[in-house]
Amino acid sequence: MIDLRLALGCTALLAVVWLALAAPAVRADAIEAGAAREQSADPRTITFVVRVRAAAGLKSATLAYKVLNPDGDIGGSQAGTFTPGTETDVTYTLNTNASERYIPVGSRFTYRWQLTDQTGTVIETPEHSFVFLDGRYQWQSRTDGPVTAYWYGDNAQNATAALAAAREALDRIGKLLETTVPYGIRIVVYRSEAEGQLAQRPRGRVFDALVITGGQRVAPDVVTIFSADVEVSRHEVAHIVTHAAGDGPFTSLPAWLDEGTAVYAQSAPGGNYRSAIDFAVRTNRTLSLRAMQAATNQPNEVNLFYGQSWSTVDFLVSTYGQPKLAELYRVHFKGARIDDALKQVYGVDQDGLYNLWRESKGLPKVAVTAVPSGAGQTAPQTTLPPLAMPGAGEAATPQGAGAGAAAEPASDGGSATAGIIVALGTLLVAGLLGGEAFVLLRGRRGGS
Ligand SMILES: [Zn+2]
Repeated sequence: MIDLRLALGCTALLAVVWLALAAPAVRADAIEAGAAREQSADPRTITFVVRVRAAAGLKSATLAYKVLNPDGDIGGSQAGTFTPGTETDVTYTLNTNASERYIPVGSRFTYRWQLTDQTGTVIETPEHSFVFLDGRYQWQSRTDGPVTAYWYGDNAQNATAALAAAREALDRIGKLLETTVPYGIRIVVYRSEAEGQLAQRPRGRVFDALVITGGQRVAPDVVTIFSADVEVSRHEVAHIVTHAAGDGPFTSLPAWLDEGTAVYAQSAPGGNYRSAIDFAVRTNRTLSLRAMQAATNQPNEVNLFYGQSWSTVDFLVSTYGQPKLAELYRVHFKGARIDDALKQVYGVDQDGLYNLWRESKGLPKVAVTAVPSGAGQTAPQTTLPPLAMPGAGEAATPQGAGAGAAAEPASDGGSATAGIIVALGTLLVAGLLGGEAFVLLRGRRGGS
């Protein structure tokens, strides 16, 4: 009893001290700033606003912001605009889904304004944090352990189911890969793919028209979901675990292993994926494992790609056991390329594994395939390098390769990566961005 009252007393005292310290951060005599606020009309922009009173007149205002990312924060600083005068609104609108930059909904921001008046006096507003959400909807949230789900409208039930599925997948795939994700994760649940379309990075008109995207892991700690199917949550949260377990500072998981593990995290691979792999085995038209190092950019190969990736991971676990799969992830994380990691753990490279898997399906061995045709393996890259590329005037925290939405050091006015994507066209974009998404070919049976 006494202890409790003492504790409460201390808390109240601390609060008073904190308020006293926090208040003078803005000096009333020279420049005064109101509460900084931010709004987004839709997921393509965030407008930052602060009301400023400066007796001498405002000279400049700079917004310094950071997008927090477990793989390394990405920062930027931008000049705000305002009308001259002693009292004015300073604003800056940040594009979040443009060619030079993609900051997904669900990202956490911190920022402050630096304000300079005509006499050279400078003040900084207190640091302000928020989670970037799509301003078209009224969001609600619920946290369960390390997972927070966001939803709007009448979608509470689906979001609750997605939250429960997310926790299950974190636990189950964490055990499978012997990993604990060391940070909290956020899942942003849209009511439908159409309502969430503006929040997605476009992957090319043809690909988007032919393929259903159920969800996507858009940052190491953020998943967006566009489907009521809880399998999507399991799948995408599994990508959070695969990234933490297998994408080392210098390595990026091959798509077949990443996607195969994510489909393995579902309670079942689903009819579309299963029938595609069954048909390919019956007709001896499977893809070489080497061809599946990057996600396919061919819409008509999507179901086979996911089905065969799942079948390969299922084969690894059922034939050689769970500890070896966890070992493969660890060895890869530490820096071994996938062929070397496989050799170290299973004694075969990707071609050898492909043939072992073929044998298990009653298919004849094939000669090692060199450069396969069809599947988009332009680079052995499954993560999304351009997810959050810094644009003009922004600096990135140096990062290891393959860090998903992590920093991609870039020069001003569009990064090298953006240039490459533009040069290679939409198909490569589709291939790169196909990774880590839960996609299905449209038509025939629904769901998965
Ligand atoms: Zn996936």
